[in-house]
Amino acid sequence: MARDTQPSCKKCRRERVKLFLKGERCETDKCAMERRPYPSGEHGRGRVKETEYLLQLREKQKAKRTYGVLERQFRNYYKIAARQKGITGENLLRILETRVDNVLYRGGLATSRNDARQMVRHGHILLNGRKLNIPSARLKEGDVVEVSPKSRDSARVMNAVKLAEGRNFPSWLKVDLDKRRIEVVAMPKREEIDIPVKESLIVELYSK
Ligand code: SF4
Repeated sequence: MARDTQPSCKKCRRERVKLFLKGERCETDKCAMERRPYPSGEHGRGRVKETEYLLQLREKQKAKRTYGVLERQFRNYYKIAARQKGITGENLLRILETRVDNVLYRGGLATSRNDARQMVRHGHILLNGRKLNIPSARLKEGDVVEVSPKSRDSARVMNAVKLAEGRNFPSWLKVDLDKRRIEVVAMPKREEIDIPVKESLIVELYSK
């Protein structure tokens, strides 16, 4: 299976924005963006000519990296989004947002999307009561994800729950941290998806 092996902090520095890829560390002053908020390398702080293409490319990369999706899968999502009714860019973000790894992260049962992916692959997550091992599975209204009974009190889950306590969760999710359970009560609207991406630029890039 193809994997993105580039160091997480380098991706944030490249995009010049915190993408929150490392869980707890991202909230501390150890975050690389707190100390070096510019791309790594010799020319990281140099001036870059901002062409239209570059702006579109950066928005696409930012979205891909935020959700941890590789190019081929991202492009497939775009094709699905373009076939759906409504605004393609918003459809694309909705598809990404309803992936099970993202839902676990948003609902506070994982400290990062990477963490969530590993939990799913290792069989710690149930979808509607059945074991799930596909982190890219897309959820729909009424779906329930929860941590399997044997993993509910694991150190990893306890840590994630502790960090999530008191947090405001997205209104399209009903979260019960005590039961380690998240229900999708609606599909997310654009204004409920708080990622710093201009999706219209991604659509412009792919529709060339
Ligand atoms: Fe990005 Fe900072 Fe988290 Fe590293 S620690 S992944 S730079 S937000």
